[in-house]
Parts: sequence; structure tokens; C-alpha cells
Amino acid sequence: MTERRNGAPDGPKDFIRQIIEADLASGRHETVVTRFPPEPNGYLHIGHAKAICLNFGVAEEYGGRCHLRMDDTNPIREEEEYVRAIQDDVHWLGYDWGEHYYHASDYFEQLYDYAEMLIRKGLAYVDSQSQEEIRAQRGTPTEPGVESPWRGRSVEENLDLFRRMRAGEFPDGAHVLRARIDMAHPNILMRDPVLYRIRHATHHRTGDRWCIYPMYDFTHCLSDAIEHVTHSLCTLEFENNRALYDWVLDNLPVPARPRQIEFARLNLTYTVLSKRKLMRLVQEGHVSGWDDPRMPTLRGMRRRGFPPEAIRAFCDRVGVAKRNSVVDVGLLEHAVRDELNRTSPRAMAVLDPLKLVIENYPEELVEEFDCVNNPEDPSAGTRKVPFSREIWIERDDFREDPPRKFFRLAPGREVRLRYAYLITCRDVVKDADGRVVELRCTYDPATRGGDAPDGRKVRGTLHWVSARHAVEGEVRLYDRLFTAPHPEEDRERDFVELLNPDSLQVVRGCKLEPMLGDVRPGERWQFERKGYFCVDPDSLAAGHPVFNRTVTLKDTWARIEARMRSTS
Ligand code: ATP
Ligand code: MG
Repeated sequence: MTERRNGAPDGPKDFIRQIIEADLASGRHETVVTRFPPEPNGYLHIGHAKAICLNFGVAEEYGGRCHLRMDDTNPIREEEEYVRAIQDDVHWLGYDWGEHYYHASDYFEQLYDYAEMLIRKGLAYVDSQSQEEIRAQRGTPTEPGVESPWRGRSVEENLDLFRRMRAGEFPDGAHVLRARIDMAHPNILMRDPVLYRIRHATHHRTGDRWCIYPMYDFTHCLSDAIEHVTHSLCTLEFENNRALYDWVLDNLPVPARPRQIEFARLNLTYTVLSKRKLMRLVQEGHVSGWDDPRMPTLRGMRRRGFPPEAIRAFCDRVGVAKRNSVVDVGLLEHAVRDELNRTSPRAMAVLDPLKLVIENYPEELVEEFDCVNNPEDPSAGTRKVPFSREIWIERDDFREDPPRKFFRLAPGREVRLRYAYLITCRDVVKDADGRVVELRCTYDPATRGGDAPDGRKVRGTLHWVSARHAVEGEVRLYDRLFTAPHPEEDRERDFVELLNPDSLQVVRGCKLEPMLGDVRPGERWQFERKGYFCVDPDSLAAGHPVFNRTVTLKDTWARIEARMRSTS
């Protein structure tokens, strides 16, 4: 995984960077100006992260700037709550728009003036048909559309009607403003597209000042031009809209001439990346909210413990291409592990505790062992962890009847307690149902620190927590949110039917080493042998630490890659 901030300087530049470099070299542009234009109708997801990293990334690389623009032309679905969350998420990812924060709604007055200009040029008209009639006349890819009976209205009549639309004289749906282009155009989007519609609705920023709202295709290109955007990067589904983007700009006296370039959107296995679908997961209660750690939202990933650096490294690695594809979620997890391995302090935590008593260890003795905080980072130092006669180990680290290749604890067997001593299991205590409730062991005092002076080897090393010093906590283990790799593509079933019923497992009564009693939400740890964990904000209300497992230690992606290498 590359550690570089953006771009992939070793390999050939992607096609967008090539275009930008050519534009700078030819003097077509002096500065690169990009924008990230979210619609504030939901929270950002990992797909948006790709667009953010691309837009802010190229601006940074070429010494230009990137604007954050709320694409807020739809008064019905937008909310201030989303606006704040989007700003916060972009900052969290590590990008800053400086003073270049805008709203499409800032331009409503200017857009209105542009619309009147089109009318005056005979390039727009008021259509008084219903939405259904207009849709029915659109034609098909093989048949031309039908011209509206209102297409021939005079400039004066159009101006009068458009002004009265603005003044609020008509109810919703009574009229629309349409571009007058060509009802037989091979690109259906060019068959007199609607530019404005009447919507008597309160807008979260402009209040009741407007009752007509501009459509996306009219707003977007003009907002780009007003802001002097040079390269308007958007996803492939807007490829057909480019003709309209250019038509609007070509027919109006705009202050700059941005160029739209499309790239493939990010798709990930085992998840859905559409705000509408994510909204359904929230509204139908399949998840606890937009920030549920299983959600592919930036909020969810942040709560789960994904570092922003890992998301950026992932976006880098995915790169930009012209062809849509689905990225294995294992690649994202690989980037997360890579980052966390370098940066997370280690700790010992027993998730499913089994009591272990060291019979020959003095009752009252407490020793402290120096434990390495991060073997990847010597500067992280060591910490003292207390050890005593009774400790907790993972239930799964003991087998009464060990299968082959099980190198952990079993009756009569010797293993290492990490950083502490070699111990041997002498006896197994069971309850009335035959369940193992305690292990009786002995330790070898000569093995302090974990090595035998006589050089004898043990195969297993277990983590542990001193029972007397343990802090209790809760751990939430996550699995994929969906059972199917491509939940959006299932023809028979609605995507919610493909939800994984076991995507969340709550484990209470975990035994944690003492330092984990004093943690703050957002802090990240590696629990040795168990994975990477992040402190959940619920810890505060719960009165004990609550941890989300960010990822396991096992790197499935590394395995996939190894398999690909061996078969290629
Ligand atoms: P969704 O499809 O999830 O509803 P959207 O495209 O409607 O998302 P916007 O708020 O309009 O969401 O998106 C803002 C920007 O993010 C757009 O430029 C869009 O192209 C880009 N974007 C959205 N989803 C992805 C994705 N999966 N991969 C890359 N870019 C994306
Ligand atoms: Mg959109």
C-alpha cells in the first residue's frame, strides 16, 4: 500500500491527471479549480470519499483549489443537519476548502437571469403541459420525441409567464421552463429538457424567497462556470448529461468555461452505496443510524475505527478509471489494517474469559511486566501490566481434547503467557453440567519474561488479564452487513432481504487490562491476537468501556493477492 498522500506517482498518471497536465502545459488553464458538489440529502459514504480524494487531491497536487459546494436545488429533501455532517466528514478525511465554501442556492438569482437570457434568445420556453404529458412525448432512443404545443410561444409570452411563475402566481406543476433544443435529438436528455419547475416549498437556506427551482443540469454547469471551475469531475452516469452541460455554457455569456470529465464510480462488494438505499436501512431500523459501524458511510467507518489515512490510501490504490467495476471490500480492510498496524498501541483483552489459577504463585504477590506498546513503532515505548495468581485467558485458548495443530493450552501442556511466564495445565475444574469453569496450573519461576533458561520451547503464547486488576467492558464484533457480494444486483430479492442477520455480535463481560478502564471515544487499539478496536461513544452512557472491532487481524486480502499471484 502506498503511503503517499495522493495520486500514484510511480505508475502512469490516470487519464484525469493526464488531461489536467496537458491543460496546464498548453496554457489553457493557469490554475486547476475543482469542486466536490454533494447534495445535502444524506450522509457521505465511501463512494463520495473517492470523489473527495480525487477532487481535493488533484487540486492539492497541482497547486490549485477545490471548492465544497452544496448542490442544494431540491428544497424537499435537504436539511441543515446533512450540510454540517458533510463539512465535518470532509474535514475528517483530511481536506479543507479554505474560503471556497458555496451553495448552488447562492446562485439562484444569477441562474434566474441566465434563464431569462435563454428565453430572450429563443432558446427556452414555458411549457404548460403536465409532467406526465412531457414524459410521454420524450420518445425513445429509436423514435424522436413530439414537440410540445407550447413550443412556439413568443419571447414576450414566455418572459411574462416565467416571471409570473417566479412571482408565485401558479400552483406546483402548472408550468415548467424548458430548453428549446431538438425533440429529435439522438440524446434523449437534449429533447427540450426541463430547466425550472414550480415548487412551493421552503428551502433550508433561501426560505420562501423562491417557488421555482432550477434543475440539476441547468444549475450544475452554471455553478461551475460562476466559480471558475476548470475541471468538473463527475461519475460516469453523467456522461449523457455532458451534451447539455456544454449546450447551456455555449449559449450563455458565462465567465469561465469548465470541462466535465467522467470517471467510474466506486462500487464495493458486500455493501450498497446509494444514499436512497442507505436511508432505507436507517429508516427501517436495520441499522442503528447513519453512523452505525456497519454502514459504509464515513460516519459509520469513523465510529468503527477506520483511520482517514486508510480511506485515502484505499482511494489512491483504487485509482480512477473510465470503466465501472466492483472493488473487493477486502482491499479496504487491507488498507485499514496496514494503517492500524503501524499506529495502534497494543493491549491485552480477553473477550470470552476462562479463569486460570496458578497454584504455586504466591497469593498476595503482584508483579508488573513491561509490555511493548507497538512493535512497529519503538518510540511508542512500553507499559507496565500487572500479573497475579488468578488470571483470565480466552476460553478458546484451551481444549481438553486438543485437535492436531492446536498449540495452545491443554491438560498437561506448557504454554507461554505473553510477557510473563511459562505455565503448565495441571487440572481442569468443571461445573455440574460438565462445562470447564477453571484451569489449575503451575508456573516455572525461572521463566520470568517468557523464556526458559534451559532453552525448552513452547508452541503457544496466550494473552491474559490479571483477574484482580481486570476492567470489565463490552465489545461489539461486526461482520459484513450483507451476505451477498453484490446485494444491489440480485434480480429476485430486494437488497434488505440479503442483510446478514449476524452482522453484529455484542460481547459483554470482557476482561480488559487496567489501562483500558480509562479510554476516550475514538481511541484505537490492537487487542493482541483479537484485532483492531476503537472506543465507541456509547462508553460514556454505559459507564464502562465499549469497543467496536474495526477489523480482525487476519488479512483476507493478502490471501486473495497471494492466490492471484500463484495462479497468474
Ligand atoms: P448516491 O448515488 O449515493 O445517492 P449521489 O451521486 O446522489 O449519491 P451526490 O451528493 O450527488 O450523491 O454526490 C456528490 C458527488 O459524489 C458527485 O460528484 C458524485 O458523482 C460523487 N459520487 C457519489 N457516489 C459516488 C461513488 N460511488 N463513487 C464515486 N463518486 C461518487
Ligand atoms: Mg447526485
